[in-house]
Amino acid sequence: MKEQIIQADLILTMDADNTIIEEGAVLVRDGLIACVGKAGEIIARHPDVPVKHLSQRLLMPGLINAHCHSGMLRGTAEGLPVWSWLQQFVDPMHRVLLPEEAKLSSLLCYSEALLSGTTTVVDMWRYMEGSAEVAMRTGIRAVLVPYVAEHPDHDYFETLNSNEALINRWHLGANGRIHVWVGLEHLFYALPQAWQRIAAMCKDYQVGFHTHSNESSFDVEETLRRYQLRPIQALEKFGLLDAKKVLLAHCVWVNDEEIALLAERHTGVVHNPVSNMKLASGAAPVEKMLQAGVAVGLGTDGEKENNNLDMFEEMKVSSLLAKFVSLDAAALDAWAICRMATVDGARALGMEDSIGSLEEGKAADMIAVRLDTPRMTPLITRGPLMNIHHNLVHAVQGGDVDMTMIAGEIRVENGKLTQIDLSEIIRDVNLQVGGLFARREAWLKQRGAAVNELERLER
Ligand SMILES: [Zn+2]
Repeated sequence: MKEQIIQADLILTMDADNTIIEEGAVLVRDGLIACVGKAGEIIARHPDVPVKHLSQRLLMPGLINAHCHSGMLRGTAEGLPVWSWLQQFVDPMHRVLLPEEAKLSSLLCYSEALLSGTTTVVDMWRYMEGSAEVAMRTGIRAVLVPYVAEHPDHDYFETLNSNEALINRWHLGANGRIHVWVGLEHLFYALPQAWQRIAAMCKDYQVGFHTHSNESSFDVEETLRRYQLRPIQALEKFGLLDAKKVLLAHCVWVNDEEIALLAERHTGVVHNPVSNMKLASGAAPVEKMLQAGVAVGLGTDGEKENNNLDMFEEMKVSSLLAKFVSLDAAALDAWAICRMATVDGARALGMEDSIGSLEEGKAADMIAVRLDTPRMTPLITRGPLMNIHHNLVHAVQGGDVDMTMIAGEIRVENGKLTQIDLSEIIRDVNLQVGGLFARREAWLKQRGAAVNELERLER
């Protein structure tokens, strides 16, 4: 039995009452939370257990990045709306991507996530054997979702066969820290027989299903044109909402009927405000979905559409976007956003029994946020001027996290990765990314003046 007490000035539990404990502690036993309470009491009851005292720190649940893509295109895929952006920058990259580049991308992204307080990442990516190895090495909790396409126009992605092999090899690996779900880039990236196989795979393996839906208005118009149904209705009709957990990224353009359907089917949604703004997709009706009882988590989307994986920034932008589009300064309150980044994210993943809050029996996935920074000052933890949640949503940045623990293991300490040499990763990415761009360029040239043609069609 391995036990440790983590003591901090403040503990934000994110339990049902958003309880805050001053001078609190968490007793960690074999990777799980055995007890949360006042430090004095816990230490007195367990005098032999070593205490790690985090002075001037807030301890809170690790953040859940519920939709992300590993990658290394940061800052090189700019200025286009989502469908043209996919055709010009992203899909050609997928055609030429090598497994070693995919693995290095996951190493870069999981490192960035850990350093900014993310303990669980839902990653839709390629060649995910490498991502699983990186999740093992970095210690992050990961839901791996291959970018599957089963369509002759998109024959350069993962397949349901490779997805199934990954499930067999890695699902519930690393003591249950690694999950593998069935993925699909988008409904349009598969033919009907593949939809049936997806539903069957989710059922046979009892795993979740993740895809992008209702991201842009084009998405809705095209689904209506093809199937005379809106996207959520189409997903339901084709059996794709039947998995034990379904998680849909974006849901920007959902109408009231679709929201009701999401609630009825207990379908999780991931809000990605930075990506939705940057790709000019629109603003998701987050408050409407929350009011309808839909579990809405928060995600950064990828490095190419964000351009970082800082969940604190995502929290701030989700607040700003909600207020901006509704012209209501009270829209989407800070507590709701803290919950989206933690316990509601867990609910959207169907993992609320094991992660998302600091409560007895859950995994010891937690982060320490510095309180000794200008961004956290002044700090008021009770009474009518209480500002801790506002500070977390609107002021704190990922770099203010200096300890990240997953399943009781410290993966970031004093703001540094404990297992990984970050400078080596940065050097390797800068060395390798040139090859990826060169191969993409060659592919695009070979295909002819496709870029110009796209631009012409856009006009
Ligand atoms: Zn995405």
